[in-house]
This record gives sequence, structure tokens and C-alpha cells, in this order.
Amino acid sequence: MKEVILCKYGEIILKGANKSTFESILLREVKRRAKAIGNYSVRYMQSTVYVEPMDEEAEELIGDMYDQIKHVFGFAGICRAAVCEKDMEVIKKTAVEYLRDSIPMGVSFRGEARRSDKRFPLDSPAIAAEVGGALLEVRPDLKVDLKNPAVTVRIEVRDKAAYIHAGQDSGAGGIPIGCAGRGLLLLSGGIDSPVAGYMMMKRGMTLDALHFESYPYTSELARDKVMTLAHELTEYSGKMRVHVISLTKIQEEIRDNCNEDYFTLILRRFMMRLASRCAVENYCPVIVTGESLGQVASQTLQALCATESVASVPVFRPCIGLDKDEIVKISRAIGTFETSILPYEDCCTVFTPKHPKTRPEIAKIEAEEAKLNYDALLEDAWESRYTVTQNQFE
Ligand code: ATP
Ligand code: MG
Repeated sequence: MKEVILCKYGEIILKGANKSTFESILLREVKRRAKAIGNYSVRYMQSTVYVEPMDEEAEELIGDMYDQIKHVFGFAGICRAAVCEKDMEVIKKTAVEYLRDSIPMGVSFRGEARRSDKRFPLDSPAIAAEVGGALLEVRPDLKVDLKNPAVTVRIEVRDKAAYIHAGQDSGAGGIPIGCAGRGLLLLSGGIDSPVAGYMMMKRGMTLDALHFESYPYTSELARDKVMTLAHELTEYSGKMRVHVISLTKIQEEIRDNCNEDYFTLILRRFMMRLASRCAVENYCPVIVTGESLGQVASQTLQALCATESVASVPVFRPCIGLDKDEIVKISRAIGTFETSILPYEDCCTVFTPKHPKTRPEIAKIEAEEAKLNYDALLEDAWESRYTVTQNQFE
């Protein structure tokens, strides 16, 4: 019996004239993943991508392929389905063979059919009833419940074949990565920034990441942790470049010359300036951060405005309106939480002030910044940059 994966479009269905651009980006992504696993045919028809194993090895690895597709943005629902000829006897036989051992003992079920090929001689209720009857014959323990069944057996009679399955998983949602331009994610080792990256990728954005380190105040373990987080995000994107810039000298100079209450704000303005430059160099028209309004002193409205004012590109903050609990929930769901909570220092927690300014005045920050050899420090930090590429398929 032949099994395929059916991947049903999400929001792309609503796209008008440029639907085909979205489709081809989606198809390219599925093909790339399929190629890394085995010999699959990948094609689309009727708002569905069909992934079909083309040899025995690919048939055996269909579970791995399915896991890959769970991470592809653009699908609302995905399922594994038995595929067979559009003949009622064959459909019944296939349904029995495919499902008789997989439905739990004694549960309720119903059949549900959809017939997009209107030339098929039976209508949808009749197809559902026939398949339901055939299943009951071999599994008399099952009960039919049309209103609230535990299991819904679906039969889809489409253009080329019939498909049978008993349960669809949610897809990753969103729109395919590559459909919404590029952004530079400021990636710390914390919980929020990987979530921010995930949220933008889900809306179709391709991301580079930028991490600031402050060695030896931050450790190599902290850097490895950020690389692990970036690698975890490549489950969705396939690949991610991580740029790293050292803030050591900047932080020491701030510590030695500026009023402690302004340490974090001055540092974050340095970060924004360097990030803007890195964004432009890497063709990213926006910066993305994991900031959330009011979460810490540097994320009050006034503090955010004071840091944003030195950015030369727009700053997107997808977590801005989320509570920490909500961010944690997403972080667990996408698999970055366990890495994020490893206890390594971030440069933002080195030399932190006891009484950070929560309503900073720009003029006062600028007066503190004037005590530094600002341009030389920026240039020095910029020259320290290097890039590491994380790749899911190597
Ligand atoms: P996170 O969990 O993302 O670390 P946080 O609550 O710890 O967030 P902050 O440390 O104030 O908040 O950082 C706010 C945002 O600034 C982060 O979400 C991230 O986008 C950026 N950021 C902080 N530290 C770094 C860093 N070392 N390198 C790159 N970006 C950083
Ligand atoms: Mg942080």
C-alpha cells in the first residue's frame, strides 16, 4: 500500500495574483528538505503539496519526512494518507488495510468524505457510509458517532487518486520563509529573542542573527549556547548566519567613564548602532529584537525610544505585547526553552547598574556618551566581527 504526505495550504490560499510566487517558494522549501532525506516526488495541486516516496528507502523514512514538514511555514494542516485508485471497492479495501490496526479499541468514529472529482459515481455521504461500513465489519468494537467521534476517517477523492487518513496534524502555520524580505535578529542567549526570531520567520522573513559577546566577561559557553539556539531555529529556516561582535572594550570604557545609572542604556545604543550597520551590510532592511514592553528597566517606553533613536533602520519587536508566560509557552513549543535557561552570562548582565534609569532623558544619555571616544570605540567593535553559519542540512 502506498502512503503519501498531504500538506494543505494555510494563508497562501487567500493570496491573489502573487499566489504562484508563494507556492514556488513553499515548494522549493519542501523539495530542499525532501532531498536531504531521500527520493521523494514533491508537487502541488488544488492548494495541497503532495510528497510521495519514490523508492522503498523513502517509504521507510516517511516519518522523518513528516517531521521535517511540521517545521515548514505555510501549511495549515498536514497528514499521512494511504493513496489508491478511485474505485469504491479499492477505496474500501485500502481503508480497511490502512486503518484496521491503528484505531484504538472501542472508540467512536465517523467517516467523512470529500469529492473534488464530481465525476466519481458516489456522492460524499455515500462514500463515507461505504467506508464506515467496511471498517465496522472488521472492527465490530468501534461505534459510529456522527456528532462527536473520537476518530474521523477521511476519504478525499481528488483529481488523480483517492486518499484515506484518520487524523490531520496542525501545520506550522504562517507564510513560507523567503516571502517577506530579510531581517537581522539580535540574538542573546535568553528566552525572548529566539521566540522573536521564530515569530518573524513564521511571517515569512529570512533572518541573519547578530550576537554581541563580551569575552572574558561572557564565556565561550555563552557563545556556544547562542550558536545552539541559532541551530535550533534552523529547524524552521534551514540555515542561519550568525554574526558576532565583541563589546568588551566598549563595556570597560562605559564602566570606567560613565554614570552607572546609564550603563545599560549607553550599551544598548551602541548595540543599535552596530546592529544597524550590520543590517545594512547584510542586506537586512530591519532589525528584530525580543524586547517586550515594561519587562525590564531597559524596556520601558522611554528606554525603548532612547535606544531606537540611534538605529538607522526600523526595529521590529514581535514580543512587544506578550507577557513573559506567553513567550515561555512559545519557547517551549518551538524547542528553544531548555537551551535558553542554561545559566550563562549575557553582555547585558555584565556591569549592570543598581538603579537603572527607567525614564531616561536623551540629553543626559548624550552627555554621558560624550565622555567616551565614541567613534573609535564603534569602529573597534565593528572590526571585531566574524560570522558563523548554522546549517540544518549539513
Ligand atoms: P532575551 O530573553 O531575548 O535575552 P531579555 O529579557 O533578557 O531578552 P534583554 O537582555 O534586555 O532582555 O535584551 C532585550 C533584547 O536585546 C533581546 O531580546 C535581544 O534581541 C537583544 N539582546 C540582548 N542581549 C543581546 C546580545 N548579547 N546579543 C544580541 N542581542 C542581544
Ligand atoms: Mg537577554
